[in-house]
Amino acid sequence: MELQLQELKKEALEKIASATNARELQEVKVAYLGKKGPITELLKGMGKLSAEERPKMGALVNVVREEVTSALEAKQIVLEEAELEAQLSKESIDVTLPGRKASTGNHHPLTRVIEEIEDLFISMGYAISEGPEVEQDYYNFEALNLPKGHPARDMQDSFYISEETLLRTHTSPVQARTMEEKGGAPIRIICPGKVYRRDSDDATHSHQFTQIEGLVIGEDIRMSDLKGTLSVFAKKMFGEDREIRLRPSFFPFTEPSVEMDISCFKCGGTGCNVCKKTGWIEILGAGMVHPNVLQMAGYDPTVVSGFAFGMGPERIAMLKYGVEDIRHFYTNDVRFLSQFQRVEA
Ligand SMILES: [Zn+2]
Repeated sequence: MELQLQELKKEALEKIASATNARELQEVKVAYLGKKGPITELLKGMGKLSAEERPKMGALVNVVREEVTSALEAKQIVLEEAELEAQLSKESIDVTLPGRKASTGNHHPLTRVIEEIEDLFISMGYAISEGPEVEQDYYNFEALNLPKGHPARDMQDSFYISEETLLRTHTSPVQARTMEEKGGAPIRIICPGKVYRRDSDDATHSHQFTQIEGLVIGEDIRMSDLKGTLSVFAKKMFGEDREIRLRPSFFPFTEPSVEMDISCFKCGGTGCNVCKKTGWIEILGAGMVHPNVLQMAGYDPTVVSGFAFGMGPERIAMLKYGVEDIRHFYTNDVRFLSQFQRVEA
């Protein structure tokens, strides 16, 4: 029996030594020390031994058991360390590998121009107002002194949705709505947004484009205030040495109406291709708010007055960045857009 025990021990230790992973080791443990394992079987058979032999044999079995157990534990530690090592080397990062460059986007040139104009007017105390793009005929035309049948509201120019609703043709309805809301109180706002016209798209026309309009209403607002405001705008947008000039014009919602030119920022006035040899570049339309428009919104034109102006961010972006075709702004060609990377200071 003692020989048998030594034989078993030798076998178990060999198998422990040759186990290559935790699963194999567990199998060895179950096979030799488990309830149905040979060592347990040997202990069960001790009943047949004599009274002198029994304690001697019992001690021997316990020694073998302990030896096998400690060999198992030692091997388990070795295997666990090897496993950890293998996992670490599998998950290691090669820090010498060059990284993948994430390409960053940038603001669309139109967004940049609009934000620049917004910032400029906010710094002068203006608030930003917005309104619906699907607009009622009343706010788009009627409240702006464009009664039904007026040539400027020709069906050809507008996308009508129903008899009384259309895609707004300008951002002026936001002014009409704001005046109505304010109920006679002073106003100083700009209204940026998308507008729609039934134009055939070409290098200078688009059926959808953006506008920024401004409106100031209060007591004693004069033409000179308009001129001063537009002069500041021209200098901030196109350079400190810009001159402006106002030419008489016509808009149904302003009286008198003007168009503003700036001295050419490319040639300084001597004449070039940008200013078409005139030295001046047309930038925007403006004027003093028509008394009818004030009256319709509930303001008393004998007490208050106001000025309004409207410009196209596309035109300003085209001039500022030397873009020749308005369609570049809408076709999302990455080659075009990536030229407007923000330059970090
Ligand atoms: Zn010029």
